[in-house]
Amino acid sequence: MPSIFTHEFNTPVYKGKVSFNTGLFINGQFVDGSDGTTIDVVNPANDRVITSVSEGTSKDVDLAVDAAEKAFETTWGLNCPGNKRGLLLNKLASLMEEHTDELAALEALDNGKAFNLARSGDVTTAINCVRYFAGWTDKISGRVIETTEERFTYTRHEPIGVVGQIIPWNSPLIMFAWKIAPALATGNSVVLKPSEFTPLTALRMCHLVNEAGFPPGVLNVVTGYGNTVGSAISSHMRIHKVAFTGSTLAGRKIMEAAAKSNLKNVTLELGGKSPNIIFNDADLEQAVNWARFGAFYNQGQSCVAGSRIFVQEGIYDEFLKLFTEKTRSIKVGDPFAPDTFQGPQISKIQYDRIMSYIDSGKKDGAKIHTGGERHGNEGYFIQPTIFLDTKPDMRIVREEIFGPVSVVIKFEDEEDVVRQANDTVYGLAAAVFTKDVTRAITTAHKLKAGSLWVNCYSVSGPNVPFGGFKQSGIGREMGEYALNNYTEVKAVHVNLGMKMM
Ligand code: NAD
Repeated sequence: MPSIFTHEFNTPVYKGKVSFNTGLFINGQFVDGSDGTTIDVVNPANDRVITSVSEGTSKDVDLAVDAAEKAFETTWGLNCPGNKRGLLLNKLASLMEEHTDELAALEALDNGKAFNLARSGDVTTAINCVRYFAGWTDKISGRVIETTEERFTYTRHEPIGVVGQIIPWNSPLIMFAWKIAPALATGNSVVLKPSEFTPLTALRMCHLVNEAGFPPGVLNVVTGYGNTVGSAISSHMRIHKVAFTGSTLAGRKIMEAAAKSNLKNVTLELGGKSPNIIFNDADLEQAVNWARFGAFYNQGQSCVAGSRIFVQEGIYDEFLKLFTEKTRSIKVGDPFAPDTFQGPQISKIQYDRIMSYIDSGKKDGAKIHTGGERHGNEGYFIQPTIFLDTKPDMRIVREEIFGPVSVVIKFEDEEDVVRQANDTVYGLAAAVFTKDVTRAITTAHKLKAGSLWVNCYSVSGPNVPFGGFKQSGIGREMGEYALNNYTEVKAVHVNLGMKMM
């Protein structure tokens, strides 16, 4: 029998007890993995094991697909009216609302996010996403296409069937909601793998899915590693679509596995190295505040992190002075302290990776302006770091660091900055700060990125599409666009009088 995880939170921001099953969630039940092995889950704030969860295998993915297929063919898919799916998703959102503090606390414990930010940001975003897609459930429809009087032609937007979903550790609950909500809203059944580093909120959500009353097998969660469970999902012959969020490296492997197996449809949300461009005429104080948020939110572990900050030469010195003060004022520490902005990095591996980028920046001749060191004595904390004097070919300028490390680069004019900003293999996001509306819009249109912010950073909404240009991904999630990822269009041609000779 899988073990029950029980934890008593006694923190300044949250007091309460959580208790839930840590098995694989297959066919509405929590079960052990077929090998009986487990994965330790570590608290990144102190490097101690919190609990362990069942480790799934390819055999467990098969069992999850069996359950998902059965649900799709009996209680879900086209056998369940849209408005019923909507009621279930709305019920799930209400249960999430009731458990807001608990979900935020789990996210803070497992991922290291500041509790207060997880509460106001992650949990709220996830709830809004589930509610938004609940609203779509009874609004999915095809079209009648006029052809001739002898033909009646129409389209249906049918669910695909069993879909696979693989998510990362940086925003586990948001990623969970972004994946399951559109898939379930359109009538698909799901086999999802959370990150091996952060499985706790996904497992807690499975209890809420049962409580909401979803039929067994509609959602299945198989915890495990990427090269076993992830790879079994992406190469599975009975999974007809895979949606992935994570690194470009793993995204490539998933696409390859999809191509080599059954050519399943793929959507990929991958990495970024986003430019944040600040012109001479920007509102300086606001530009500084948003730049700090863009670069350091979530410990810099954000796919849209504005880690390349381009500042026009006329305000460069003043910007740098204010941005440095703002960066140094970031409260780094215990995720459960009320004023913490930056918690620990997710893992030892990620900590080492970021520190090796900092070393490479130094070796390549860039100057550390502030930060660059470990923060504290335990856990995986890193000081918010700014590099200056970089060159375009340095790794810290070109590669996604996924940590609290940004580079500030001086530029001359619009042409110069657009060229530098677009000089990347990525294209996930970009921002422009200026009071000149013409410049804001012309620059925004020249930048090759899926999300463009003018005088703000990293704002979004469940009704707004999200995704990347170039190697930042394939497809768009969220908004109406996400419905296309989870439906097949069928054209039906009915003969009303045509005769074949
Ligand atoms: P990762 O690619 O290492 O892992 C993501 C998920 O994929 C995990 O569940 C992992 O177990 C699984 N995985 C790893 N190798 C796999 C394989 N060969 N086959 C199948 N599954 C595999 O990424 P991460 O370190 O968890 O997350 C950080 C990355 O995610 C960053 O690059 C970041 O930019 C990206 N990200 C992108 C977005 C976006 O929407 N574009 C959002 C969040 C994170």
